[in-house]
Amino acid sequence: MPVQRKVIIIGSGPAGYTAAIYAARANLSPLMFSGVQWGGQLMLTTMVENYPGFVDGIMGPELMEVFRKQAERFDTEIIAEDVTAVDFSRRPFRVTAGNRTDEALSVIVATGASAKLLGLAAEQKLMGHGVSTCATCDGFFFKDKNIMVVGGGDSAMEEALYLARLGRKVEVVHRRDTLRASKIMQERAFKNPKIEFIWNSAVDEILDVAKGVVTAVRVKNLKTGEPSERPVDGLFVAIGHQPNTQLFRGQLELLPNEYIKVVPGTTQTSVPGVFAAGDVQDHTYRQAVTAAGTGCMAALEAERFLEAHPS
Ligand code: NAP
Repeated sequence: MPVQRKVIIIGSGPAGYTAAIYAARANLSPLMFSGVQWGGQLMLTTMVENYPGFVDGIMGPELMEVFRKQAERFDTEIIAEDVTAVDFSRRPFRVTAGNRTDEALSVIVATGASAKLLGLAAEQKLMGHGVSTCATCDGFFFKDKNIMVVGGGDSAMEEALYLARLGRKVEVVHRRDTLRASKIMQERAFKNPKIEFIWNSAVDEILDVAKGVVTAVRVKNLKTGEPSERPVDGLFVAIGHQPNTQLFRGQLELLPNEYIKVVPGTTQTSVPGVFAAGDVQDHTYRQAVTAAGTGCMAALEAERFLEAHPS
């Protein structure tokens, strides 16, 4: 028989670890499934300068190490396995990771979201070295530089507008000749003198892996097939995010964009006793600090739920 836990936390980004710190300090002895690749999206960034409390900034992976140590200090049990199935149809809830199944009276889902990538080999190699998926995180490093943004949706326009405040020039590469972004965002981008559009085009190659930094991007015109090499210092991929909710389809109510639906202003999901924190339920702010904030909310809500439903 599996041991019954008070709280199981699935995911180990800022939301998951913050939930663990709060739950552990409330004597809920949380069990966390951190996943094999623990730490979430900050493991893919370099310097983080907008997380409060670090005057000189901190490297993303180092910040997650600090989060992890703080969660362990308060006796969070961490299992470095990927959860493979959940059963939220009745309490106690069941969480399976490979061969083990654990039961819990409450669950906090903090599996995050993943930025969609172009799929080029150089993109992974230069991630954090000129390639980024987050202008608010990394834009500051491209002051007065030439920047390229890929995508034609609201995220791409938002990134381009943000980067135009910092960079010398922002080129937006879009695969069609019309934008998907809302009219208001389009207008703002079209009006901005620093933003230029490269239509009907796709990023073909990112240079220069041998140098370990982005020096140029090769863009191919999809209508004519003509390639062109553009010198840029930064490439921001803004082609959307995918919430990590595959496990929860049919278990929790999801929004049409596949993010977990929560009661506004709370972390309560469609199943009482299951809470969702961080980017898995946030398609608006998507910041480490907001994820940590909702992780705290989820732990406090789980604690209150357990007081009202002790078994
Ligand atoms: P999105 O609306 O799905 O747009 C993704 C964009 O990336 C599209 O233009 C798409 O091209 C392009 N794209 C997708 N895959 C690509 C690939 N492999 N290669 C090249 N281009 C690719 O995603 P989003 O912009 O992240 O927005 C998601 C949701 O959040 C939307 O509902 C949006 O309105 C909302 N949002 C709102 C705001 C705001 O209002 N301030 C800010 C951000 C996001 P196609 O157009 O050709 O499909």
